Amino acid sequence: MTRIEILSVASEVYPLIKTGGLADVAGALPGALKGQGFAVRTLVPGYPAVVRAMRRAETALSFDDFFGGPARLLAGRAAGLDLFVLDAPHLFVRPGGPYADAGGREWGDNAVRFAALGRIGASLGQGLLEGYAPAVVHAHDWQAGLTAAYLTYDRGRRPGAVMTVHNLAFQGQFDPRLLHALGLPAAAFTHDGVEYYGDIGFLKAGLRLSDRITTVSPTYAAEICTADGGMGLDGLLRGRADRLSGILNGIDVKVWNPASDPLIAAPFDAGDLDARAANKAELQAAFGLDPDPDALLFAVISRLSWQKGLDLLLAALPVLLAEGAQLALLGAGDPDLQSGFAAAAAAHPGRIACAFGYDEPLAHRIQAGADALLVPSRFEPCGLTQMCALRYGAVPVVARVGGLNDTVVDASPMALAAGGATGVQFGPVVAPMLENAIRRTADLYRAPRTWRTMQTNGMACDVSWRQSAKLYAELYRGLIAERAG
Ligand code: ADP
Repeated sequence: MTRIEILSVASEVYPLIKTGGLADVAGALPGALKGQGFAVRTLVPGYPAVVRAMRRAETALSFDDFFGGPARLLAGRAAGLDLFVLDAPHLFVRPGGPYADAGGREWGDNAVRFAALGRIGASLGQGLLEGYAPAVVHAHDWQAGLTAAYLTYDRGRRPGAVMTVHNLAFQGQFDPRLLHALGLPAAAFTHDGVEYYGDIGFLKAGLRLSDRITTVSPTYAAEICTADGGMGLDGLLRGRADRLSGILNGIDVKVWNPASDPLIAAPFDAGDLDARAANKAELQAAFGLDPDPDALLFAVISRLSWQKGLDLLLAALPVLLAEGAQLALLGAGDPDLQSGFAAAAAAHPGRIACAFGYDEPLAHRIQAGADALLVPSRFEPCGLTQMCALRYGAVPVVARVGGLNDTVVDASPMALAAGGATGVQFGPVVAPMLENAIRRTADLYRAPRTWRTMQTNGMACDVSWRQSAKLYAELYRGLIAERAG
């Protein structure tokens, strides 16, 4: 069977290069779409780690001067993915991260670096490489936002264009004087083009000029059309609401499988939840918490940032303690939040404990041993950590926003009566409501049969990529049919 070709353009792809959820999606979708009849090739920048992984790749194209230096387009396979890599050392080979130096300062030439990515993505879509003509070019986040602009302002083959927003907070806004250097015509600098509040907007361009827009949950798709959630782009998004949809992310259910997870003390499944006790005991020991099997053990696994609402949890800690509960937090980021939680741990030894850093094996042990996972995000496009929690029988306690709203069924009286609850939701996202949620969770925990039902309900949820892949496949097919008609 010949598969329909899709070109995915992303600045991160797991496991080669990752700073956020975008990498997980870009890394997982190609495999999930294979079963739906699609062949996805992914175009990524040639960061050092990526070029190293492409050692056996062929050079498909060479350029003497591509945005200020020599460059090559590499084609090959790595980590199970079919890849194109823009190997342009003057743009992508440097110490530090993909977007900023080691001190956190954004690279001054990010506009040029990611224009180059979009430029080559569009050219591949137009058939630059003999024998390769993708039906759809699918761009992810602002770094790939100009792909649709080049497709629009060039003449020539025009494949379908899809733009996915993983987090609207990152928009790629740059000096308008760069227009020419980015290879865009003066005519592109309009309200209907790349102009964004007087600047050049990469994400804005992608949202305005693509044929379809997706984001990573239905609720986030609705939120970004409002003044509160739209971050300056809500007007545009409302105007294109008929092109916008939300498709939930999945998680890798092989990596996150409590029945076979080699990282946890005692594997378990929904039929054998008593085995979780050993994981809870191990977790309490690892964090130096009191070895109390009955205390309600809350956990957090999160970036420490304003988005994640953890300042609200700091404010709610007295309530958590008053309920006799414990807290184990794993996180990295904002130094103020970090010192806030460190101080709380010092003041309440045995009851509150923290591990600062990024530690994936520890995240598995926490999901396996915690009773409940707290996710009080102010906004959350999709969120993955609550999906892992569902799969591991840790009851998610979440803000009623974005993908958290779409993946957790609140223990409302109605849901409890119907036996369908999987967690606790709260809103609006303010400390008193989080406090209520903590109290409500403690009450539910004191009713073991109800609690057990919530755990098994959560574990029965399909959090894999299967359903998402079907929805992306439908979206591609609809777009291809529209363009053919
Ligand atoms: P975001 O992409 O906004 O950080 P998500 O919930 O979508 O949030 O995805 C983050 C993923 O990274 C989750 O699976 C979460 O469990 C994991 N994670 C976050 N912080 C850490 C940490 N400090 N150590 C290990 N894993 C973490």
